[in-house]
Amino acid sequence: MKNYRERLKDAETIVIKVGTSTITYETGKLNLGHLEKLAFVISDIRNLGKKVVLVTSGAIGVGVNKLGLKEKPGVMSEKQAAAAIGQCELMHIYNKMFSKYGYVVGQILLTREEIDFEERRNNVINTFSKLLEYNAIPVVNENDSIAVEEIEFGDNDTLSAIVSKLIGADLLIILSDIDGLYSADPRTDPEAKLIPVVEEINDEVEKSAGGAGSGRGTGGMVTKLMAARIATQAGTDVVVANGGNPCIIQDIISGQDSGTLFVAQPSS
Ligand code: GLU
Repeated sequence: MKNYRERLKDAETIVIKVGTSTITYETGKLNLGHLEKLAFVISDIRNLGKKVVLVTSGAIGVGVNKLGLKEKPGVMSEKQAAAAIGQCELMHIYNKMFSKYGYVVGQILLTREEIDFEERRNNVINTFSKLLEYNAIPVVNENDSIAVEEIEFGDNDTLSAIVSKLIGADLLIILSDIDGLYSADPRTDPEAKLIPVVEEINDEVEKSAGGAGSGRGTGGMVTKLMAARIATQAGTDVVVANGGNPCIIQDIISGQDSGTLFVAQPSS
């Protein structure tokens, strides 16, 4: 098998996606240690001269916590209000943490409408490119305060893949609370093994993830696999890895064997 890991060292434009589980505790409060490391590692990668875009979840969870609600509200307007509050808090923290290392952040909130309509899509692409030119770090989330079913992405794995495609990223790193793709469900099968490299997302791979569309895969792998498919088809390498220590990002971009690498498909 080719050494696909080696070429990750040359990735120039990198999208990093962090899930709510990486940036908050089970209590719902912010995991400041993880956020701190994330800001440090991303700033360090910027210092290397690479371009980085951060796709972050957590708006709703952080908002729920800030409002002191016992659980995530079911009513759309309540969820959207919680997201409006949580998104502010998230940006406040990212702004504070990145500024420590001399970087400014710029918020981009998206719905499907910005992707589906050419003019809006071009505007978004231009904004990304200017922010990167200004050495700012674009911080992206779904616009949860206005997104309703018809125009939502639904999950940030998909959003991160779409952003990667939009900006022509070389590498997408999806950090989660799982180590990567396993041959079977590691929670129930002691024989389950981590798959280091996936050259093609075929039926067998989908089976390992719990089957497309089942909604619940091997530790939530289904949406990650869907994201990997979108991004790899657009020519972006994708690594799904455990965000338990965000410094894993440095291992990945130095070509080390971390998580599962989904290899970018050659353009046809
Ligand atoms: N956009 C949602 C939020 O910020 C998260 C969606 C996801 O975790 O996939 O709360």
